[in-house]
Formats: sequence, C-alpha cells, structure tokens
Amino acid sequence: MTESDFSILRQALVESLVEEGVIRSKIVKEAMLKVPREEFVPIHLRHYAYEDTPLPIGYGQTISAPHMVALMCEEAQLAPGMRVLEIGTGSGYHAAVIAEIVGPKGAVYSIERLAELSSFARRNLARTGYLDRVTLIIGDGSMGYPPAAPYDRIIVTAAAPEVPPPLIDQLARNGIMVIPVGDRFNQILYVVRKKSDGSLEYRTVTPCLFVPLIGRHGWDS
Ligand code: SAM
Repeated sequence: MTESDFSILRQALVESLVEEGVIRSKIVKEAMLKVPREEFVPIHLRHYAYEDTPLPIGYGQTISAPHMVALMCEEAQLAPGMRVLEIGTGSGYHAAVIAEIVGPKGAVYSIERLAELSSFARRNLARTGYLDRVTLIIGDGSMGYPPAAPYDRIIVTAAAPEVPPPLIDQLARNGIMVIPVGDRFNQILYVVRKKSDGSLEYRTVTPCLFVPLIGRHGWDS
C-alpha cells in the first residue's frame, strides 16, 4: 500500500469517528488526520492500521483502537501548550497524537515498563518527527513521574485496579486524568478532575477493555 492509500483510509476512519460522535473537536480531528498510525504498528500489520481495532505490538501488548485514542483525547480536553503524562507508551501512537495536539509549546512525558516497547516507540516517534516533543521514560508508571510533575493532563492507557494515588498527587489543580479502572476483564473509563481547591470529581464514560497496568499501584503480573 502506498502513502496515499493509507491517507485515504485514515481520512475515512476519521470521518466515521466524527459521524459516530467519538471525535467532537477540530483539534482531535486534525491530530487523528495527521498522525500516520501505519508507522506505529508492526510492519506485517500495516494494512490493518485503519481498522478501528487494537492490534498486537509484541510482548503481549497492543496499540489501542483509534476510537479509544480519540475518545481519551476528547475526554482529557487537551489543548496546545499543555504538559501531559501518558502511562503506557506501547507503540508511541497515542503519545504522537497527544504531541500533535499540545504542539511545540507543550510537552508529553510517556512511561513504559517494557524497555523493548519503549525502544519500538522511540523509533516510531523519531521516524514520524514527534520525538522532540515526547520524553520517553522506562519504569513503573503507576508511580507517575515526579521529576516533571505537576501535569495538566494524565492519560493512562492500561487498566488499573484503582486510581494510583501518586497520579492524583502529580495532577495539577484544574487538571484532568483519564483512566480505565476495574478488574482484569471489565473496566470503566473514568475522568478524574482535580478542582481548584484540590478536591476530586469522578465521572464515568464507557465500559472498556485495556491490558493491565502492572506495577506497585497496579496489578502484580
Ligand atoms: N498508548 C499505547 C499506544 O499508543 O500504542 C498503547 C498502550 S497498551 C494498551 C498499554 C501499555 O502499558 C503496554 O505497552 C504495557 O506494557 C504498558 N504498561 C503496563 N503497566 C505499566 C506500568 N506500570 N508502567 C508503564 N507502562 C505500563
């Protein structure tokens, strides 16, 4: 498939996500139109890049489905200039979409526990030109990343048994965190807002299914 074939498929997928009401803002639409998902999946799966489904990226992990990436970006209410922490770098695709939205004045910090996937993401982000806006960290994202806190937004792309307390601590006032919470096979996507007085407001969005967040404030394995 050529670059222009992928571009046509990308456009069709984005239009259908707009029709379904998943993509609601211009900024998320433009970012989803811009970032080439085919560059973030294993080469033998490139022709599936614009199916609205998660795909395997090795090590038992997945790149999330495009509708989930778009939905999480919409629910996070991302805007240019924001500082964003992503937990679960995986392929680097979601980090690239976030980087496209926050722009050159924003910053994305993305943590991955598997060094091999962090390297895969690094190569993908470098090839697509997003590496200068994304700092990749290898470690347990359930502990957050204190050196760059507080964050305007935190997006967790693996399922947690509860909202990890360090992530609440590292969320800025008026900040928003989007996180799947539940057991191993049934989760609910939560939006957690830290108000200006530091109190928290929780809202549920949709049932979902993510790979587990493994770590101190996640699952054991
Ligand atoms: N955002 C990714 C993308 O765009 O490809 C998809 C992420 S995948 C659904 C979830 C990722 O979270 C996996 O790569 C997994 O290894 C990682 N993960 C699980 N527990 C983690 C933890 N405690 N800290 C950091 N990453 C973790």
